[in-house]
Amino acid sequence: MKLPLEHVQRFAGSGIRLTKQREEVFGLLLQKRDHPTATEVFLRAKKHMPSISLATIYNCLDALVDWGLVKQVNLDRAPTRYCANLQEHSHFYCESCGAISDVDVPFDGRWDLPPGFIVAHAEVSLKGQCAKCSAQHSLGTDPIGMGGFSAQHAKMKTQKRHS
Ligand SMILES: [Zn+2]
Ligand SMILES: [Zn+2]
Repeated sequence: MKLPLEHVQRFAGSGIRLTKQREEVFGLLLQKRDHPTATEVFLRAKKHMPSISLATIYNCLDALVDWGLVKQVNLDRAPTRYCANLQEHSHFYCESCGAISDVDVPFDGRWDLPPGFIVAHAEVSLKGQCAKCSAQHSLGTDPIGMGGFSAQHAKMKTQKRHS
């Protein structure tokens, strides 16, 4: 799999050793932005690299996360998903079909924090039903999910800066 030129240049300038496997894994995450789990990445990679192992996939993903090229998406009781979108964004998790979508952050930087608190990183995840699932529900008897993306539950998490 060929990576876009901007990424090849980034690798070249950063001293990252880009193996065939890492290139493949990163390329797969860039190509289809549906936040796959490691197992899903493994199944996709196998189509091009039949000999690749799940352990190798985990190694590649760990390396890409370490280098800041890929973000981990952790949701309660669910396997870690991987996201190659490095723009500031939040995740919308559909509780019906399990799809994870990227959503823009309306965050204006103003949290109601006690004096002296400094936010280094903010992560907001939304849960509810995606457009497809809410459309299906509104046809039936389930009143939940009318009106497209309705977040039923928003979780906010702030992390302290490591010094
Ligand atoms: Zn994402
Ligand atoms: Zn859905």
